[in-house]
Amino acid sequence: MATTERAGELLYEGKAKQLFATEDPALLRMRYKDDATAFDGKKHAVIAGKGQLNNAISAIFFARLEEAGVPTHFVRRLSDLECLVRRVRLFPLEVIVRNIVAGSMARRYGLEEGMVLAHPTVEFDLKNDALGDPLVTEEQIAVLGWATQEEVAEIRRLALRVNEILSADLRGRGVVLVDFKLEFGRDPEGRIVVADEISPDTCRFWDAETREKLDKDRFRRDLGGLEEAYAEMLRRLGGTPR
Ligand code: UDP
Repeated sequence: MATTERAGELLYEGKAKQLFATEDPALLRMRYKDDATAFDGKKHAVIAGKGQLNNAISAIFFARLEEAGVPTHFVRRLSDLECLVRRVRLFPLEVIVRNIVAGSMARRYGLEEGMVLAHPTVEFDLKNDALGDPLVTEEQIAVLGWATQEEVAEIRRLALRVNEILSADLRGRGVVLVDFKLEFGRDPEGRIVVADEISPDTCRFWDAETREKLDKDRFRRDLGGLEEAYAEMLRRLGGTPR
């Protein structure tokens, strides 16, 4: 409804971000919130400073992907909590790349967390909190119309490329990229691009030496020190909160 939107109007509010219209119908303002949620929203807290850290960290990751030739929705950081992104049509999928067994993979298959996979895997969850983001196969995605076979193939290719770029970058900073979630959209030019955010809320990061968790597992598992861990990630990435 680009024609009836007013600049500044709240278009969408999720658990961790808000999206606002701008003067330009092709661009949206994304605002990070301090809310932390887990287990499909069943656990919730407000952690001062988290929004600002995620905005800064995500901006760095998106800029690195763009430099490496991976298209994203990101344009630039606008302020502590906000960035400018291009409007895209999101696929209703959460795309999860794993290098090391953790989280739901460990739980689902009764595996020890920390087992290194022989090669990275990509899996797809349907983005639907009410259903608990169920795992879907590529065949189901195509037959149920969430994305075509060709789109799924391109999404998989891009997700693995993102993994290569970010894993290599983080390795040099003493951080292991265990797993992460991406969302993809199609831009008005028809390109499939990485959208949403890439932050310690959506990735698992372990310190390469100590194996200390530098991500949202600190909240999920009541380990404390979440803001400090996110600030440490930003520091390792060479960024500043402002
Ligand atoms: N993830 C996410 N949003 C979700 C589900 C997962 O950002 O709704 C991220 C999560 O932070 C982790 C990766 O995707 O880095 C794999 O998550 P997993 O399937 O292991 O689920 P979890 O144990 O986090 O519930």
